[in-house]
Amino acid sequence: MSDATHNAAPADVNDLYDLTIIGAGPVGLFGAFYAGMRGMKVKLIDSLAELGGQLSALYPDKYIFDMAGFPKVLARDLVKDLSEQALQFHPTVCLEEKVMTLTKTDEGFALGTEKGVTHRTKTVLITAGVGAFAPKKLDKPEYARFEGHGLHYMIPNLSVFKGRRILVVGGGDSAVDWALMLNDIAAEVTLIHRRDAFRAHEDSVKKLHASSVRVMLFHELKDLPGDGAISSAIVYDNRTKEETTLTVDDVVVNFGFLANLGPIKTWGLNLEKISLVVNQQMETNIEGVMAAGDISTYPGKLKLIVTGVGEATMAVCTAKMRCDPKASYFPGHSSGNAAFEGASH
Ligand SMILES: Cc1cc2nc3c(=O)[nH]c(=O)nc-3n(C[C@H](O)[C@H](O)[C@H](O)COP(=O)(O)OP(=O)(O)OC[C@H]3O[C@@H](n4cnc5c(N)ncnc54)[C@H](O)[C@@H]3O)c2cc1C
Repeated sequence: MSDATHNAAPADVNDLYDLTIIGAGPVGLFGAFYAGMRGMKVKLIDSLAELGGQLSALYPDKYIFDMAGFPKVLARDLVKDLSEQALQFHPTVCLEEKVMTLTKTDEGFALGTEKGVTHRTKTVLITAGVGAFAPKKLDKPEYARFEGHGLHYMIPNLSVFKGRRILVVGGGDSAVDWALMLNDIAAEVTLIHRRDAFRAHEDSVKKLHASSVRVMLFHELKDLPGDGAISSAIVYDNRTKEETTLTVDDVVVNFGFLANLGPIKTWGLNLEKISLVVNQQMETNIEGVMAAGDISTYPGKLKLIVTGVGEATMAVCTAKMRCDPKASYFPGHSSGNAAFEGASH
């Protein structure tokens, strides 16, 4: 269990919980906080060894620019703050425990995990993101020899790139953000993208073009020659086929991620591709089971942290009413301003 969980209550497996949250990414963490605010007995379960979901596993050293209240925040710092916020109400936290089954019971639900444990809960909030995720890799299996020797699909620690020459491949937000962040510490950064339009936030693209990152549009990776560590990369212009050999120490590939919902697909929930369909109160088709964050979908859905935490708030309020029919959906404001509470009903 990571330091971040020091505040968590000791797990009592046999207790009946008001709400069990499956997935301790940013959305699950905020859900745990909000359920604590609403006086609920909460359990948080994640298959990973640490809190934070994609932020901890895939991009702890990347800045996030679109989180309300933060002009920019490192993913690892956001996880630290979300964890502190979530753990202040002492939810029970179970890490390294993948939920395999969801079964309806008289009191609510039984969740069976890989460890052979059964968790009892009145309601469930699924914030399992994209399920198990793995980066999409370069299409030549022989490049696996460079993994750990200069070929990167994730960046768990930015500092290892200090003073190095880096090729970033890709045209989405991750590629653009990494190129800009690496540019601050690396000796030089080149970014290749196979088209001339980026799939990234307009402001980030503007910053990229204004930076000293060498941007090669209509360029793709042709080959990574040699053995041992990466020393060069051959790229080509996909319009003229002209080749260029770049001297680089590292290649950072950003082709997105492959996701697998795994056991959740078998729980009888309405699915749209790899997402759970929810209504405006974040309820799935199974009464008492809510979903929020990347795993949920509805018309207008945006897969962002800032929208996900709002969804978690609504899901928790729905769960609260289910556990306590006398409770109201809107609980009032956290700062307890009675004038506003009166105005909101
Ligand atoms: C490189 C990159 C950069 C990004 N940058 C931004 C950005 O700048 N701004 C932004 O808003 N968004 C960004 N995103 C997207 C953002 O990370 C996601 O929207 C966010 O993580 C979704 O949070 P979540 O809590 O819904 O799911 P996740 O973060 O995916 O967490 C889900 C958790 O559920 C757990 N889980 C899954 N299945 C089970 C199971 N059966 N049992 C137990 N646990 C389970 C997983 O282990 C995981 O920890 C980025 C994504 C990537 C990959």
